[in-house]
Amino acid sequence: MTDLISMTIAEARNGLANKSFTSLELTDAHLAAIEAARALNAFVLETPDKARAMARAIDAKIAKGEGGPLAGIPLGIKDLFATKDVRTTACSKILGNFVPPYESTVTSQLWRDGAVMLGKLNNDEFAMGSSNETSCFGPVVNPWRREGSNTSLVPGGSSGGSASAVAALLCMGATATDTGGSIRQPAAFTATVGVKPTYGRCSRWGIVAFASSLDQAGPIARSTRDAAILMRSMAGHDPKDTTSVDRAVPDYEAAIGKSVKGMKIGIPKEYRLDGMPAEVEKLWTEGAAWLKAAGAELVEISLPHTKYALPAYYIVAPAEASSNLARYDGVRYGLRVPGRSIGEMYENTRAEGFGDEVRRRVMIGTYVLSAGYYDAYYLRAQKVRTLIKKDFEDCFAKGVNAILTPATPSAAFGIGEKGGADPVEMYLNDIFTVTVNMAGLPGIAVPAGKDAQGLPLGLQLIGRPFDEETLFSLGEVVEQAAGRFTPARWW
Ligand code: GLN
Repeated sequence: MTDLISMTIAEARNGLANKSFTSLELTDAHLAAIEAARALNAFVLETPDKARAMARAIDAKIAKGEGGPLAGIPLGIKDLFATKDVRTTACSKILGNFVPPYESTVTSQLWRDGAVMLGKLNNDEFAMGSSNETSCFGPVVNPWRREGSNTSLVPGGSSGGSASAVAALLCMGATATDTGGSIRQPAAFTATVGVKPTYGRCSRWGIVAFASSLDQAGPIARSTRDAAILMRSMAGHDPKDTTSVDRAVPDYEAAIGKSVKGMKIGIPKEYRLDGMPAEVEKLWTEGAAWLKAAGAELVEISLPHTKYALPAYYIVAPAEASSNLARYDGVRYGLRVPGRSIGEMYENTRAEGFGDEVRRRVMIGTYVLSAGYYDAYYLRAQKVRTLIKKDFEDCFAKGVNAILTPATPSAAFGIGEKGGADPVEMYLNDIFTVTVNMAGLPGIAVPAGKDAQGLPLGLQLIGRPFDEETLFSLGEVVEQAAGRFTPARWW
């Protein structure tokens, strides 16, 4: 039988349609791969019984010619998405064994379209992090290693479980979320494709909130086409999320292979950082050349407020997080640590339930929102955010269709290597990705090459609001030129 785990979603869709294999066989092959890859710590909960039941049900539908666009495709779900009757923790001790009585809109749309759930994927606690080291379930291991080395590397974060599982062929695609880079940075670290849609494109209902004005759900997949297939099911208006936008969902897959001739691609000069590794710079130049060869026109652009994006993000995101996380008080969900008074119970629960990074964010957020500091920090950061957004609008007004940048300033690093002494070292990972969330724009990370140590590197394309289709067309050009990358199996 064909190798059932290394196919793309598009290939599996054909195989299922012409009855080369069943969804149950496909699902079993992935469940076996997950079992053999526990060393990666990508899944925090495996749901084999549910997966097989879903696969059997969809096989029956396929037999009657009734399957949806994702009929029979096994997926992994980031543990930030509420899944009905299946434990959802945001990888925080404070949620304990919380079992939601409801399903997130995004995942319910995937099941509506016939997908199969394999289990819940690891992530940084409350999606705060860039390395998946802050999870209460422990770090995720990147299936990629430096050539000739067996040092364990991070898969990036916060959607590290999603990226690691997709790269290691444990699931055909995964859901993820991106507040400052959490889809695109792990995708770049694992040679997978990650899409952060326009703010409002996917419903946030039923996703554990981190920073509500920045959070967006999106897919991680093994090809641009697969990401487009998943996006179509994930996107759409939801009356339960007032920030979700009522616009028709296009057939994103139709954008794959569309000509990019005549498109104007901006190269922002402010993204050329001092001390950026030569390999990253080279990859960026190469990417630009591929797009040019496909008929696009390259133009240098300026996004002058780029340097303020990271500091402003680390005010806005913690501020929103501190108010979103106020609900974890030991009363309504998960963990409760008793105390002599209700105040003491709150304190004990929060002290015990939140990890170091989450506590740091709550403290920063509470500080920047407090009377006397609000104007100096929070209000000013909001003004900077408006300027960042305007930088992009000015470029788009001049006819720029999309912007090409590196996805990350480096390749994957070792577990425990960064951020121990200085958290800012970790925050710098998001330097190319946070601007996109601050401006609410769509962004895609596509694998584009490797560094000298054999680790994958990605390129990012940033688009106009609700123009994900252009990103899929351009992403496909990069993918065709760069080829696909699979890690050598060692686990
Ligand atoms: N690394 C960033 C942070 O820690 C972004 C995380 C995310 O996108 N969820 O805030």
